[in-house]
Amino acid sequence: ADIHGAERKNSRGINLNVRSQWEPFERALRVQLEHRWQATPLVDGQVLAGEVHEVCSPQDLDRVVGTVWFAGVELVGQAMERLAAAWPRWNATPVEQRAAILERLADLLEEHRAELVALCILEAGKTIQDSLDEVREAVDFCRYYARQARLGLGRTELRGPTGERNELFYEGRGLFVCISPWNFPLAIYLGQIAAALVAGNCVLAKPAEQTSLIAARALDLLFAAGLPKEAIAFLPGDGPALGAACCADPHLAGVCFTGSTDTARLINRRLAWRDGPLVTLIAETGGQNVMIVDSTALPEQVVKDALHSAFTSAGQRCSALRVLYLQNEIAGAVIGLLRGAMAELLVGLPQRRDSDVGPLIDAQARQALLEHVDTLKGEGRLLAEASLPAGLSGHFLAPVAFEIGGIGELRKEHFGPILHVVRYAAEELEQVVAAINASGYGLTLGVHSRNEATARRIEALARVGNLYINRNQIGAVVGVQPFGGCGLSGTGPKAGGPNYLLRFVHERSTAINT
Ligand code: NAD
Repeated sequence: ADIHGAERKNSRGINLNVRSQWEPFERALRVQLEHRWQATPLVDGQVLAGEVHEVCSPQDLDRVVGTVWFAGVELVGQAMERLAAAWPRWNATPVEQRAAILERLADLLEEHRAELVALCILEAGKTIQDSLDEVREAVDFCRYYARQARLGLGRTELRGPTGERNELFYEGRGLFVCISPWNFPLAIYLGQIAAALVAGNCVLAKPAEQTSLIAARALDLLFAAGLPKEAIAFLPGDGPALGAACCADPHLAGVCFTGSTDTARLINRRLAWRDGPLVTLIAETGGQNVMIVDSTALPEQVVKDALHSAFTSAGQRCSALRVLYLQNEIAGAVIGLLRGAMAELLVGLPQRRDSDVGPLIDAQARQALLEHVDTLKGEGRLLAEASLPAGLSGHFLAPVAFEIGGIGELRKEHFGPILHVVRYAAEELEQVVAAINASGYGLTLGVHSRNEATARRIEALARVGNLYINRNQIGAVVGVQPFGGCGLSGTGPKAGGPNYLLRFVHERSTAINT
């Protein structure tokens, strides 16, 4: 039971190691992997023209996945006008009906799981397991927000002086622009849209440039689930150009953004200087995430959880572990095991069931990471490195670990499979937490300690959104580990948590003297 005392279940996955589950799924997946997809700008359900882009897979640069027509900036004004005209009707649609659309969408996502997994593999380079998890998370967001809307967005009577009736109720804020990243091209993209819509807002959806095909397919399913075409516009295309036009539009009521801290800052500036009504900004951004390991931890468990947290999705998760702090007494044992375990990691094509690590999203991301790797190698800091099989033509980078002096040496988030290791002395624990706080980021933190007082002390001192004790620190579960950070990591509120929808609504109160 959750905080509302009601039972709730998350969606089920597929166990890739159970033949009766894997084989039928593999057959369906194989068919879908041959497909080609398209994405076009859509306003009011009308397909609009744009600039043609061929999409190639990050794992195989010769594999064309589909075609995207990028929207020009002139479409922003047109889309916002239409959405503004549609908003009163959508806002007046009962919450129950809006929630039912999300639930139908969740069912459709499950029905089309093989196709969506194929798209995540081909367009985003995600491994099969990551892609399955991605679809599950999208399903969970839809069902969770539908349920939270029913439970929380009704009309409540508040007690006041005798003879007066006081009511509190909610409506949409108006038009939300939802801007999402490529690293969760389905779950975050749909999570934002689902929350904004169910709360009574019309939406302009701006997916990441790299993953417009998945976004377009998800939108088809949203329409099939019964969403009126007028309630959403879809503008794939250049982030800076479309983003600037959206932020300046007079109809804008809110921006829901997930992506890098730099982009969030830019959007924040634009919103601050625009004329007209003040606009809500929800921003979920980057991290510089640490795991602290003291001498009471179990080295085998530390290595398993550190590897999983640092290298799943090729380290392209905002929650991913970047800096592993090891107490001196245990550092040697952990580093020894880490070397061995990293040598076993299999970097490979994401559609292979045995690949642990797939490609990076694009050449630019790989280049930026390689510069950091070369610098640290040049300084003689290499601790361990996985091997890169010959014959891969995509944007692959072998997971690598370096020893550095402290988190303060990292000037920015390195969004890939690079782990930094730091040794510390027992008496320095509070300084370690102070250094983490001083980084300004506050997303995830892992602690490995069998001393509960130590873990609780760290909990009290650390300014982070999600703390994980004696386990890995990625893969927050919707409704169970509401996700989001503070400081440079975002404005909150927590996605997949009970308070998320409240940021998308305008709260109203009516007092009636009877
Ligand atoms: P990004 O900031 O480059 O892009 C994110 C989105 O913003 C894309 O849709 C992009 O087109 C758009 N965009 C780019 N410039 C813009 C501008 N000037 N105005 C408006 N929109 C603009 O980030 P990315 O590389 O796509 O994603 C990786 C980043 O996202 C990492 O920093 C990661 O930590 C972060 N992230 C955070 C969370 C979280 O929940 N906190 C989740 C996933 C990813």
